[in-house]
Amino acid sequence: PIRQRLLVVANRLPVSAVRRGEDCWSLEISAGGLVSALLGVKEFEARWIGWAGVNVPDEVGQRALTRALAEKRCIPVFLDEEIVHQYYNGYCNNILWPLFHYLGLPQEDRLATTRSFQSQFTAYQKANQMFADVVNKHYEEGDVVWCHDYHLMFLPKCLKDYNSKMKVGWFLHTPFPSSEIHGLCHLDQNYYVHFHTYDYARHFVSACTRILGLEGTPEGVEDQGRLTRVAAFPIGIDSERFIRALEVPKVQEHIKELKERFSGRKVMLGVDRLDMIKGIPQKILAFEKFLEENPYWRDKVVLLQIAVPTRTDVPEYQKLTSQVHEIVGRINGRFGTLTAVPIHHLDRSLDFHALCALYAVTELDEKYALYQTSYIGHAVLENNEVGQKYDYTKRSSINFDSGNESNVENQGNGLTSDHFLESLDLLRLEPSQLDSSICTSNALSYHAAGLLSSSRIQICDVALVTSLRDGMNLVSYEFVACQDSKRGVLILSEFAGAAQSLGAGAILVNPWNITEVASAIGQALNMPAEEREKRHRHNFEHVTTHTAQQWAEFFVSELNDTVIEAQQRI
Ligand code: UDP
Repeated sequence: PIRQRLLVVANRLPVSAVRRGEDCWSLEISAGGLVSALLGVKEFEARWIGWAGVNVPDEVGQRALTRALAEKRCIPVFLDEEIVHQYYNGYCNNILWPLFHYLGLPQEDRLATTRSFQSQFTAYQKANQMFADVVNKHYEEGDVVWCHDYHLMFLPKCLKDYNSKMKVGWFLHTPFPSSEIHGLCHLDQNYYVHFHTYDYARHFVSACTRILGLEGTPEGVEDQGRLTRVAAFPIGIDSERFIRALEVPKVQEHIKELKERFSGRKVMLGVDRLDMIKGIPQKILAFEKFLEENPYWRDKVVLLQIAVPTRTDVPEYQKLTSQVHEIVGRINGRFGTLTAVPIHHLDRSLDFHALCALYAVTELDEKYALYQTSYIGHAVLENNEVGQKYDYTKRSSINFDSGNESNVENQGNGLTSDHFLESLDLLRLEPSQLDSSICTSNALSYHAAGLLSSSRIQICDVALVTSLRDGMNLVSYEFVACQDSKRGVLILSEFAGAAQSLGAGAILVNPWNITEVASAIGQALNMPAEEREKRHRHNFEHVTTHTAQQWAEFFVSELNDTVIEAQQRI
Protein backbone atom coordinates (compact mmCIF):
# COMPACT_ATOMS: atom_id res chain seq x y z
CA PRO A 1 0.00 0.00 0.00
CA ILE A 2 1.18 3.54 -0.67
CA ARG A 3 1.83 5.27 2.58
CA GLN A 4 0.81 8.84 3.12
CA ARG A 5 3.72 11.22 2.89
CA LEU A 6 4.55 13.52 5.74
CA LEU A 7 6.74 16.52 5.05
CA VAL A 8 8.37 17.55 8.30
CA VAL A 9 9.65 21.08 8.07
CA ALA A 10 11.96 22.35 10.79
CA ASN A 11 14.70 24.95 10.90
CA ARG A 12 17.40 22.29 11.22
CA LEU A 13 17.56 18.97 9.46
CA PRO A 14 18.25 16.05 11.79
CA VAL A 15 21.74 15.58 10.31
CA SER A 16 25.07 17.25 10.71
CA ALA A 17 26.93 17.70 7.46
CA VAL A 18 30.69 17.99 7.17
CA ARG A 19 32.27 18.84 3.86
CA ARG A 20 35.05 16.43 2.87
CA GLY A 21 35.83 17.75 -0.59
CA GLU A 22 34.45 19.80 -3.44
CA ASP A 23 31.56 17.42 -4.04
CA CYS A 24 31.90 15.14 -1.07
CA TRP A 25 29.96 15.31 2.18
CA SER A 26 29.80 13.13 5.24
CA LEU A 27 26.54 13.07 7.13
CA GLU A 28 25.62 12.03 10.59
CA ILE A 29 22.04 11.59 11.72
CA SER A 30 21.38 13.20 15.08
CA ALA A 31 18.76 10.99 16.61
CA GLY A 32 16.78 13.59 18.48
CA GLY A 33 13.28 13.09 19.82
CA LEU A 34 11.50 14.01 16.62
CA VAL A 35 13.54 11.61 14.50
CA SER A 36 12.91 8.62 16.71
CA ALA A 37 9.28 9.63 17.11
CA LEU A 38 8.75 9.43 13.40
CA LEU A 39 10.78 6.27 12.93
CA GLY A 40 8.21 4.53 15.10
CA VAL A 41 5.26 5.67 13.04
CA LYS A 42 4.60 3.17 10.30
CA GLU A 43 1.51 4.64 8.68
CA PHE A 44 3.29 7.29 6.72
CA GLU A 45 6.57 8.07 5.16
CA ALA A 46 8.45 11.05 6.51
CA ARG A 47 10.58 13.47 4.49
CA TRP A 48 12.58 16.16 6.20
CA ILE A 49 12.96 19.67 4.91
CA GLY A 50 15.29 22.13 6.61
CA TRP A 51 18.61 23.88 6.83
CA ALA A 52 21.66 21.62 7.11
CA GLY A 53 23.44 24.03 9.44
CA VAL A 54 26.26 24.82 7.01
CA ASN A 55 26.89 27.59 4.55
CA VAL A 56 27.30 26.18 1.04
CA PRO A 57 27.90 29.09 -1.33
CA ASP A 58 28.85 27.09 -4.43
CA GLU A 59 26.56 25.14 -6.70
CA VAL A 60 28.77 22.08 -6.91
CA GLY A 61 28.65 21.76 -3.14
CA GLN A 62 24.90 22.36 -3.02
CA ARG A 63 24.21 19.69 -5.62
CA ALA A 64 26.46 17.16 -3.88
CA LEU A 65 24.90 17.85 -0.49
CA THR A 66 21.39 17.58 -1.93
CA ARG A 67 22.28 14.17 -3.37
CA ALA A 68 23.83 12.93 -0.14
CA LEU A 69 20.88 14.14 1.91
CA ALA A 70 18.35 12.51 -0.41
CA GLU A 71 19.60 9.12 0.79
CA LYS A 72 18.54 10.09 4.29
CA ARG A 73 15.16 11.36 3.06
CA CYS A 74 16.28 14.90 3.75
CA ILE A 75 15.82 17.95 1.54
CA PRO A 76 17.99 21.00 2.19
CA VAL A 77 17.03 24.65 2.31
CA PHE A 78 20.15 26.69 1.58
CA LEU A 79 20.46 29.82 3.67
CA ASP A 80 23.39 32.16 3.17
CA GLU A 81 25.39 33.61 6.03
CA GLU A 82 23.67 36.96 6.05
CA ILE A 83 20.19 35.42 6.22
CA VAL A 84 21.28 33.05 8.98
CA HIS A 85 22.65 35.97 10.91
CA GLN A 86 19.52 38.07 10.62
CA TYR A 87 16.82 35.42 10.65
CA TYR A 88 18.27 32.76 12.92
CA ASN A 89 20.68 34.49 15.29
CA GLY A 90 18.75 37.73 15.17
CA TYR A 91 15.02 37.37 14.97
CA CYS A 92 14.63 33.77 16.19
CA ASN A 93 17.16 33.65 18.96
CA ASN A 94 17.42 37.24 20.10
CA ILE A 95 13.80 38.23 19.88
CA LEU A 96 11.42 35.27 19.74
CA TRP A 97 13.26 32.95 22.11
CA PRO A 98 13.40 35.42 25.02
CA LEU A 99 9.90 36.70 24.25
CA PHE A 100 8.35 33.23 24.36
CA HIS A 101 10.17 32.41 27.59
CA TYR A 102 9.21 35.63 29.35
CA LEU A 103 12.82 36.79 29.46
CA GLY A 104 13.57 40.44 28.96
CA LEU A 105 15.89 41.41 26.15
CA PRO A 106 19.42 42.00 27.40
CA GLN A 107 19.71 45.62 28.61
CA GLU A 108 22.61 46.72 26.44
CA ASP A 109 21.14 44.94 23.45
CA ARG A 110 17.83 46.69 23.67
CA LEU A 111 18.72 49.70 21.63
CA ALA A 112 20.60 47.71 19.05
CA THR A 113 17.73 45.25 18.87
CA THR A 114 15.23 48.00 18.24
CA ARG A 115 17.41 49.31 15.44
CA SER A 116 17.91 45.95 13.80
CA PHE A 117 14.39 44.71 14.45
CA GLN A 118 13.00 45.66 11.07
CA SER A 119 15.76 44.12 9.01
CA GLN A 120 15.66 40.96 11.12
CA PHE A 121 11.93 40.70 10.70
CA THR A 122 12.29 41.08 6.96
CA ALA A 123 14.95 38.36 6.94
CA TYR A 124 12.63 36.14 8.99
CA GLN A 125 9.86 36.50 6.42
CA LYS A 126 12.31 35.95 3.62
CA ALA A 127 13.74 32.81 5.20
CA ASN A 128 10.23 31.45 5.79
CA GLN A 129 9.47 32.09 2.14
CA MET A 130 12.62 30.16 1.16
CA PHE A 131 11.44 27.19 3.21
CA ALA A 132 8.02 27.48 1.57
CA ASP A 133 9.58 27.45 -1.89
CA VAL A 134 11.33 24.17 -1.16
CA VAL A 135 8.22 22.62 0.40
CA ASN A 136 6.12 23.70 -2.52
CA LYS A 137 8.58 22.21 -4.99
CA HIS A 138 8.40 18.81 -3.31
CA TYR A 139 4.74 18.82 -2.32
CA GLU A 140 2.47 16.22 -3.87
CA GLU A 141 -1.26 16.08 -3.48
CA GLY A 142 -2.29 14.20 -0.37
CA ASP A 143 0.89 15.05 1.56
CA VAL A 144 0.61 16.35 5.09
CA VAL A 145 2.94 19.23 5.96
CA TRP A 146 4.04 19.55 9.54
CA CYS A 147 5.88 22.78 10.39
CA HIS A 148 7.86 23.05 13.57
CA ASP A 149 8.59 25.71 16.09
CA TYR A 150 9.00 29.43 16.41
CA HIS A 151 11.45 29.65 13.52
CA LEU A 152 8.70 28.96 11.03
CA MET A 153 5.60 30.81 12.15
CA PHE A 154 5.25 32.52 8.84
CA LEU A 155 5.63 29.36 6.81
CA PRO A 156 1.98 28.18 6.97
CA LYS A 157 0.88 31.48 5.46
CA CYS A 158 3.41 31.21 2.63
CA LEU A 159 2.28 27.64 1.95
CA LYS A 160 -1.37 28.59 1.92
CA ASP A 161 -0.58 31.33 -0.55
CA TYR A 162 0.83 28.68 -2.84
CA ASN A 163 -1.96 26.20 -2.35
CA SER A 164 -4.90 26.80 -0.08
CA LYS A 165 -5.80 23.09 -0.03
CA MET A 166 -2.52 21.99 1.45
CA LYS A 167 -2.90 20.23 4.82
CA VAL A 168 -0.70 22.21 7.12
CA GLY A 169 -0.05 21.96 10.84
CA TRP A 170 2.27 23.89 13.05
CA PHE A 171 3.62 22.74 16.38
CA LEU A 172 5.27 25.06 18.86
CA HIS A 173 7.95 23.42 21.00
CA THR A 174 8.33 26.37 23.35
CA PRO A 175 5.81 27.96 25.67
CA PHE A 176 3.38 30.44 24.19
CA PRO A 177 3.34 33.42 26.51
CA SER A 178 0.19 35.01 27.80
CA SER A 179 -1.26 37.91 25.85
CA GLU A 180 1.68 38.32 23.60
CA ILE A 181 1.21 37.96 19.92
CA HIS A 182 3.18 38.40 16.96
CA GLY A 183 0.76 39.23 14.25
CA LEU A 184 2.42 36.47 12.33
CA CYS A 185 -0.13 33.80 12.81
CA HIS A 186 -1.97 33.21 9.63
CA LEU A 187 -5.24 31.45 10.28
CA ASP A 188 -7.07 29.35 7.81
CA GLN A 189 -9.06 26.21 7.50
CA ASN A 190 -7.04 23.07 6.85
CA TYR A 191 -4.67 24.58 9.30
CA TYR A 192 -3.94 23.16 12.66
CA VAL A 193 -2.04 24.86 15.47
CA HIS A 194 -0.77 22.66 18.20
CA PHE A 195 0.92 23.23 21.59
CA HIS A 196 2.38 21.24 24.49
CA THR A 197 -0.12 22.33 27.12
CA TYR A 198 -3.61 23.77 27.44
CA ASP A 199 -2.15 26.90 28.99
CA TYR A 200 -0.12 27.65 25.89
CA ALA A 201 -3.08 26.92 23.62
CA ARG A 202 -5.30 29.14 25.76
CA HIS A 203 -2.73 31.95 25.65
CA PHE A 204 -2.68 31.68 21.89
CA VAL A 205 -6.46 31.78 21.54
CA SER A 206 -6.84 34.69 23.93
CA ALA A 207 -4.09 36.61 22.15
CA CYS A 208 -5.94 36.08 18.86
CA THR A 209 -9.21 37.26 20.33
CA ARG A 210 -7.85 40.19 22.31
CA ILE A 211 -5.34 41.53 19.90
CA LEU A 212 -6.57 40.44 16.51
CA GLY A 213 -10.25 40.66 17.45
CA LEU A 214 -11.01 37.15 16.19
CA GLU A 215 -13.56 34.84 17.66
CA GLY A 216 -12.48 32.10 20.05
CA THR A 217 -14.43 28.86 19.87
CA PRO A 218 -14.03 25.63 21.83
CA GLU A 219 -12.11 24.18 18.90
CA GLY A 220 -9.92 27.11 18.04
CA VAL A 221 -10.10 30.50 16.43
CA GLU A 222 -12.56 31.64 13.80
CA ASP A 223 -11.91 34.33 11.25
CA GLN A 224 -14.91 35.17 9.10
CA GLY A 225 -16.26 31.65 9.27
CA ARG A 226 -12.92 29.96 8.70
CA LEU A 227 -11.87 27.83 11.63
CA THR A 228 -8.26 27.22 12.56
CA ARG A 229 -8.06 24.37 15.01
CA VAL A 230 -6.03 24.91 18.15
CA ALA A 231 -5.18 22.03 20.46
CA ALA A 232 -2.79 20.83 23.10
CA PHE A 233 -1.00 17.56 22.73
CA PRO A 234 2.34 17.32 24.47
CA ILE A 235 5.34 15.65 22.92
CA GLY A 236 6.75 12.53 24.55
CA ILE A 237 9.92 10.49 24.18
CA ASP A 238 10.70 7.14 22.63
CA SER A 239 10.80 5.56 26.08
CA GLU A 240 11.61 2.09 24.74
CA ARG A 241 14.80 3.40 23.21
CA PHE A 242 16.02 4.54 26.63
CA ILE A 243 14.90 1.41 28.44
CA ARG A 244 16.61 -0.79 25.86
CA ALA A 245 19.79 1.26 26.02
CA LEU A 246 20.28 0.35 29.67
CA GLU A 247 20.98 -3.22 28.60
CA VAL A 248 23.69 -2.25 26.13
CA PRO A 249 27.13 -3.40 27.38
CA LYS A 250 28.67 -0.01 26.67
CA VAL A 251 26.08 1.68 28.88
CA GLN A 252 26.56 -0.90 31.62
CA GLU A 253 30.27 -0.21 31.47
CA HIS A 254 29.69 3.54 31.75
CA ILE A 255 27.43 2.96 34.73
CA LYS A 256 30.10 0.87 36.41
CA GLU A 257 32.72 3.57 35.86
CA LEU A 258 30.44 6.26 37.21
CA LYS A 259 29.58 4.19 40.23
CA GLU A 260 33.23 3.68 41.01
CA ARG A 261 33.94 7.33 40.47
CA PHE A 262 31.22 8.50 42.86
CA SER A 263 31.11 5.60 45.25
CA GLY A 264 30.00 6.52 48.69
CA ARG A 265 28.00 9.51 47.52
CA LYS A 266 24.53 10.13 46.26
CA VAL A 267 24.31 11.59 42.82
CA MET A 268 22.07 14.52 41.97
CA LEU A 269 21.86 15.03 38.25
CA GLY A 270 21.29 18.11 36.14
CA VAL A 271 21.27 17.95 32.33
CA ASP A 272 20.59 21.19 30.49
CA ARG A 273 21.69 23.31 27.62
CA LEU A 274 23.51 26.24 29.12
CA ASP A 275 20.63 28.60 28.44
CA MET A 276 19.07 31.38 30.54
CA ILE A 277 15.76 29.53 30.60
CA LYS A 278 17.22 26.50 32.37
CA GLY A 279 17.82 28.23 35.71
CA ILE A 280 21.27 26.72 36.22
CA PRO A 281 22.62 29.44 38.56
CA GLN A 282 19.42 29.18 40.63
CA LYS A 283 19.82 25.42 40.83
CA ILE A 284 23.42 25.62 42.00
CA LEU A 285 22.63 28.30 44.57
CA ALA A 286 19.85 26.11 45.94
CA PHE A 287 22.29 23.23 46.20
CA GLU A 288 24.69 25.50 48.08
CA LYS A 289 21.95 26.44 50.50
CA PHE A 290 21.19 22.79 51.05
CA LEU A 291 24.84 22.04 51.87
CA GLU A 292 25.00 25.08 54.11
CA GLU A 293 22.03 23.89 56.14
CA ASN A 294 22.88 20.20 56.10
CA PRO A 295 26.52 19.67 57.09
CA TYR A 296 25.92 15.94 57.29
CA TRP A 297 25.41 15.74 53.55
CA ARG A 298 28.45 17.77 52.53
CA ASP A 299 30.67 14.83 51.69
CA LYS A 300 27.89 12.45 50.83
CA VAL A 301 26.19 14.03 47.88
CA VAL A 302 27.49 15.28 44.56
CA LEU A 303 25.75 17.43 41.98
CA LEU A 304 26.66 16.39 38.44
CA GLN A 305 25.70 19.19 36.14
CA ILE A 306 25.99 18.63 32.40
CA ALA A 307 25.74 22.03 30.77
CA VAL A 308 25.70 21.67 27.00
CA PRO A 309 27.21 24.78 25.39
CA THR A 310 24.82 26.63 23.15
CA ARG A 311 25.11 29.86 21.16
CA THR A 312 28.63 30.37 22.48
CA ASP A 313 29.20 33.39 20.24
CA VAL A 314 26.52 35.45 21.99
CA PRO A 315 27.74 37.74 24.82
CA GLU A 316 24.74 36.99 27.07
CA TYR A 317 25.50 33.29 26.92
CA GLN A 318 29.20 33.87 27.53
CA LYS A 319 28.25 35.88 30.58
CA LEU A 320 26.01 33.09 31.82
CA THR A 321 28.86 30.59 31.37
CA SER A 322 31.28 32.62 33.44
CA GLN A 323 28.63 33.33 36.05
CA VAL A 324 27.97 29.60 36.44
CA HIS A 325 31.71 28.84 36.57
CA GLU A 326 32.19 31.44 39.24
CA ILE A 327 29.41 30.09 41.45
CA VAL A 328 30.57 26.49 41.00
CA GLY A 329 34.15 27.48 41.86
CA ARG A 330 33.06 29.35 44.96
CA ILE A 331 30.92 26.49 46.26
CA ASN A 332 33.55 23.86 45.54
CA GLY A 333 36.10 26.02 47.33
CA ARG A 334 33.77 26.39 50.24
CA PHE A 335 32.60 22.81 50.70
CA GLY A 336 35.20 20.75 48.84
CA THR A 337 37.88 18.66 50.47
CA LEU A 338 41.29 17.65 49.20
CA THR A 339 39.78 14.62 47.56
CA ALA A 340 36.23 15.57 46.64
CA VAL A 341 34.13 18.50 45.47
CA PRO A 342 30.37 18.80 45.81
CA ILE A 343 29.74 19.98 42.22
CA HIS A 344 31.00 18.45 39.01
CA HIS A 345 30.19 20.83 36.25
CA LEU A 346 30.79 19.79 32.64
CA ASP A 347 30.62 22.27 29.79
CA ARG A 348 30.00 19.69 27.14
CA SER A 349 27.45 17.41 25.61
CA LEU A 350 27.34 13.66 25.99
CA ASP A 351 26.43 11.02 23.48
CA PHE A 352 23.26 9.01 23.89
CA HIS A 353 24.87 6.08 25.70
CA ALA A 354 26.85 8.19 28.14
CA LEU A 355 23.71 10.16 28.88
CA CYS A 356 21.65 7.02 29.53
CA ALA A 357 24.34 5.79 31.91
CA LEU A 358 24.11 9.05 33.82
CA TYR A 359 20.34 8.90 33.97
CA ALA A 360 20.62 5.40 35.37
CA VAL A 361 23.70 5.62 37.56
CA THR A 362 21.59 6.31 40.55
CA GLU A 363 21.88 2.72 41.59
CA LEU A 364 22.57 1.18 44.93
CA ASP A 365 26.12 1.96 45.72
CA GLU A 366 27.40 -0.89 47.79
CA LYS A 367 29.93 1.02 49.79
CA TYR A 368 27.43 3.71 50.53
CA ALA A 369 24.89 1.16 51.65
CA LEU A 370 27.58 -0.18 53.91
CA TYR A 371 27.98 3.19 55.59
CA GLN A 372 24.28 3.38 55.98
CA THR A 373 24.18 -0.07 57.44
CA SER A 374 26.77 0.87 59.96
CA TYR A 375 24.86 4.00 60.88
CA ILE A 376 21.69 2.06 61.28
CA GLY A 377 23.40 -0.66 63.20
CA HIS A 378 24.99 1.87 65.44
CA ALA A 379 21.81 3.78 66.03
CA VAL A 380 19.86 0.66 66.76
CA LEU A 381 22.48 -0.47 69.15
CA GLU A 382 22.68 2.86 70.90
CA ASN A 383 18.96 2.88 71.28
CA ASN A 384 18.99 -0.40 73.00
CA GLU A 385 22.14 -0.37 74.99
CA VAL A 386 22.60 3.25 75.81
CA GLY A 387 26.08 4.11 76.85
CA GLN A 388 27.75 0.95 75.68
CA LYS A 389 30.33 1.10 72.96
CA TYR A 390 29.19 -0.65 69.87
CA ASP A 391 31.18 -3.67 68.97
CA TYR A 392 30.31 -5.61 65.88
CA THR A 393 32.13 -8.63 67.18
CA LYS A 394 29.38 -9.00 69.71
CA ARG A 395 26.61 -8.41 67.21
CA SER A 396 25.14 -11.84 67.53
CA SER A 397 24.23 -11.18 71.10
CA ILE A 398 22.63 -7.83 70.36
CA ASN A 399 18.94 -7.75 70.76
CA PHE A 400 17.52 -5.27 68.28
CA ASP A 401 14.06 -3.96 68.70
CA SER A 402 12.14 -0.88 67.79
CA GLY A 403 11.81 0.54 71.27
CA ASN A 404 13.21 3.95 70.32
CA GLU A 405 10.53 6.07 71.84
CA SER A 406 12.13 6.05 75.22
CA ASN A 407 15.33 7.47 73.85
CA VAL A 408 14.93 11.20 73.62
CA GLU A 409 17.86 11.87 71.34
CA ASN A 410 16.75 9.40 68.73
CA GLN A 411 13.11 9.95 68.98
CA GLY A 412 11.22 8.81 65.97
CA ASN A 413 14.03 7.43 63.90
CA GLY A 414 12.09 4.20 63.74
CA LEU A 415 15.06 1.99 62.96
CA THR A 416 14.83 -1.63 63.95
CA SER A 417 16.87 -4.75 63.64
CA ASP A 418 14.86 -5.57 60.55
CA HIS A 419 16.19 -2.49 58.83
CA PHE A 420 19.69 -3.40 59.77
CA LEU A 421 19.31 -6.95 58.51
CA GLU A 422 17.58 -5.72 55.39
CA SER A 423 20.43 -3.42 54.58
CA LEU A 424 22.88 -6.25 55.08
CA ASP A 425 20.76 -8.31 52.78
CA LEU A 426 20.93 -5.62 50.13
CA LEU A 427 24.67 -5.87 50.36
CA ARG A 428 24.50 -9.62 50.29
CA LEU A 429 26.48 -9.66 53.54
CA GLU A 430 26.26 -11.88 56.55
CA PRO A 431 26.40 -10.05 59.88
CA SER A 432 29.57 -11.99 60.64
CA GLN A 433 31.33 -10.39 57.65
CA LEU A 434 31.08 -6.88 59.03
CA ASP A 435 34.28 -5.16 59.92
CA SER A 436 34.06 -3.01 63.00
CA SER A 437 36.53 -0.50 61.57
CA ILE A 438 33.97 0.58 59.01
CA CYS A 439 31.81 1.82 61.78
CA THR A 440 34.26 3.55 64.00
CA SER A 441 36.18 5.20 61.18
CA ASN A 442 33.07 6.89 59.90
CA ALA A 443 32.30 8.88 62.97
CA LEU A 444 28.99 7.28 63.63
CA SER A 445 26.55 9.61 65.18
CA TYR A 446 23.00 10.00 66.22
CA HIS A 447 22.75 12.73 63.70
CA ALA A 448 23.40 10.29 60.92
CA ALA A 449 20.83 7.92 62.25
CA GLY A 450 18.34 10.74 62.48
CA LEU A 451 18.82 11.53 58.82
CA LEU A 452 18.04 7.99 57.94
CA SER A 453 14.74 8.49 59.57
CA SER A 454 12.66 6.76 56.98
CA SER A 455 11.67 3.23 57.57
CA ARG A 456 13.96 1.66 54.99
CA ILE A 457 17.47 2.04 53.77
CA GLN A 458 17.60 4.65 51.05
CA ILE A 459 19.29 4.17 47.75
CA CYS A 460 17.65 6.84 45.69
CA ASP A 461 19.20 9.61 43.75
CA VAL A 462 17.72 12.71 42.34
CA ALA A 463 17.33 14.64 39.07
CA LEU A 464 17.05 18.38 39.39
CA VAL A 465 15.23 20.32 36.67
CA THR A 466 14.85 23.98 37.56
CA SER A 467 13.90 25.66 34.28
CA LEU A 468 12.59 29.19 34.69
CA ARG A 469 10.48 28.48 31.59
CA ASP A 470 10.57 25.42 29.37
CA GLY A 471 8.20 24.34 26.62
CA MET A 472 8.27 20.75 27.82
CA ASN A 473 11.67 19.53 29.10
CA LEU A 474 12.47 16.10 27.74
CA VAL A 475 15.33 15.51 30.16
CA SER A 476 12.79 14.94 32.92
CA TYR A 477 11.03 12.30 30.79
CA GLU A 478 14.30 10.60 29.89
CA PHE A 479 15.40 10.43 33.53
CA VAL A 480 12.09 8.81 34.51
CA ALA A 481 12.40 6.25 31.68
CA CYS A 482 15.84 5.22 32.97
CA GLN A 483 14.84 4.93 36.62
CA ASP A 484 12.58 1.95 36.65
CA SER A 485 14.80 -0.20 38.79
CA LYS A 486 16.04 2.57 41.07
CA ARG A 487 13.07 4.86 41.57
CA GLY A 488 15.03 8.07 41.72
CA VAL A 489 13.25 11.25 42.65
CA LEU A 490 12.53 14.01 40.15
CA ILE A 491 12.57 17.60 41.36
CA LEU A 492 10.83 19.58 38.65
CA SER A 493 10.17 23.23 37.99
CA GLU A 494 6.51 24.17 37.94
CA PHE A 495 7.33 26.36 34.94
CA ALA A 496 8.31 23.45 32.68
CA GLY A 497 5.57 22.04 30.44
CA ALA A 498 6.41 18.61 31.92
CA ALA A 499 5.05 19.80 35.29
CA GLN A 500 1.57 19.34 33.85
CA SER A 501 2.14 15.67 33.15
CA LEU A 502 4.70 14.61 35.78
CA GLY A 503 3.45 16.92 38.52
CA ALA A 504 1.91 14.20 40.63
CA GLY A 505 5.07 12.10 40.70
CA ALA A 506 7.71 14.81 40.90
CA ILE A 507 8.42 17.26 43.69
CA LEU A 508 7.34 20.50 42.07
CA VAL A 509 9.28 23.65 42.91
CA ASN A 510 9.40 27.29 42.04
CA PRO A 511 12.96 27.56 40.72
CA TRP A 512 13.26 31.20 41.79
CA ASN A 513 12.67 30.20 45.40
CA ILE A 514 16.04 28.89 46.49
CA THR A 515 14.84 28.02 49.98
CA GLU A 516 12.07 25.89 48.54
CA VAL A 517 14.42 24.10 46.13
CA ALA A 518 16.95 23.47 48.93
CA SER A 519 14.30 21.87 51.07
CA ALA A 520 13.06 19.83 48.10
CA ILE A 521 16.60 18.44 47.81
CA GLY A 522 16.44 17.37 51.45
CA GLN A 523 13.01 15.88 50.93
CA ALA A 524 14.19 13.94 47.87
CA LEU A 525 17.31 12.59 49.54
CA ASN A 526 15.36 11.46 52.58
CA MET A 527 12.26 10.19 50.84
CA PRO A 528 10.99 6.84 52.11
CA ALA A 529 11.06 4.01 49.63
CA GLU A 530 7.29 3.57 49.53
CA GLU A 531 6.75 7.16 48.56
CA ARG A 532 9.48 7.02 45.93
CA GLU A 533 7.90 3.93 44.51
CA LYS A 534 4.49 5.56 44.32
CA ARG A 535 5.78 8.71 42.71
CA HIS A 536 7.96 6.85 40.27
CA ARG A 537 5.11 4.52 39.22
CA HIS A 538 3.01 7.51 38.35
CA ASN A 539 5.70 9.12 36.22
CA PHE A 540 6.93 5.94 34.58
CA GLU A 541 3.39 5.03 33.61
CA HIS A 542 2.94 8.42 32.01
CA VAL A 543 6.25 8.48 30.17
CA THR A 544 5.81 5.01 28.70
CA THR A 545 2.22 5.57 27.61
CA HIS A 546 2.53 9.10 26.19
CA THR A 547 5.30 8.53 23.70
CA ALA A 548 6.66 10.53 20.83
CA GLN A 549 5.18 8.02 18.39
CA GLN A 550 1.69 8.60 19.73
CA TRP A 551 2.24 12.31 19.55
CA ALA A 552 3.16 12.13 15.86
CA GLU A 553 0.29 9.76 15.06
CA PHE A 554 -2.13 12.04 16.85
CA PHE A 555 -1.02 14.99 14.81
CA VAL A 556 -1.42 13.31 11.45
CA SER A 557 -4.79 11.78 12.25
CA GLU A 558 -6.15 15.04 13.66
CA LEU A 559 -5.03 16.92 10.62
CA ASN A 560 -6.58 14.35 8.29
CA ASP A 561 -9.84 14.45 10.24
CA THR A 562 -9.85 18.22 10.22
CA VAL A 563 -9.49 18.29 6.48
CA ILE A 564 -12.28 15.76 5.95
CA GLU A 565 -14.57 17.73 8.24
CA ALA A 566 -13.77 20.98 6.50
CA GLN A 567 -14.57 19.37 3.15
CA GLN A 568 -17.87 18.13 4.49
CA ARG A 569 -18.80 21.60 5.66
CA ILE A 570 -18.40 23.07 2.21
N1 UDP B 1 20.98 15.82 25.29
C1 UDP B 1 21.98 15.16 24.61
N2 UDP B 1 23.27 15.22 25.07
C2 UDP B 1 23.60 15.90 26.19
C3 UDP B 1 22.57 16.56 26.89
C4 UDP B 1 21.27 16.51 26.41
O1 UDP B 1 21.72 14.52 23.61
O2 UDP B 1 24.77 15.93 26.56
C5 UDP B 1 19.59 15.77 24.79
C6 UDP B 1 18.63 15.14 25.77
O3 UDP B 1 18.63 13.75 25.63
C7 UDP B 1 17.29 15.76 25.42
C8 UDP B 1 17.67 17.07 24.76
O4 UDP B 1 19.09 17.06 24.61
O5 UDP B 1 16.60 14.96 24.50
C9 UDP B 1 17.23 18.28 25.58
O6 UDP B 1 15.85 18.43 25.49
P1 UDP B 1 15.00 19.31 26.51
O7 UDP B 1 13.59 19.27 26.06
O8 UDP B 1 15.22 18.85 27.92
O9 UDP B 1 15.60 20.78 26.42
P2 UDP B 1 15.96 21.74 25.17
O10 UDP B 1 17.44 21.66 25.04
O11 UDP B 1 15.22 21.22 23.98
O12 UDP B 1 15.53 23.11 25.59
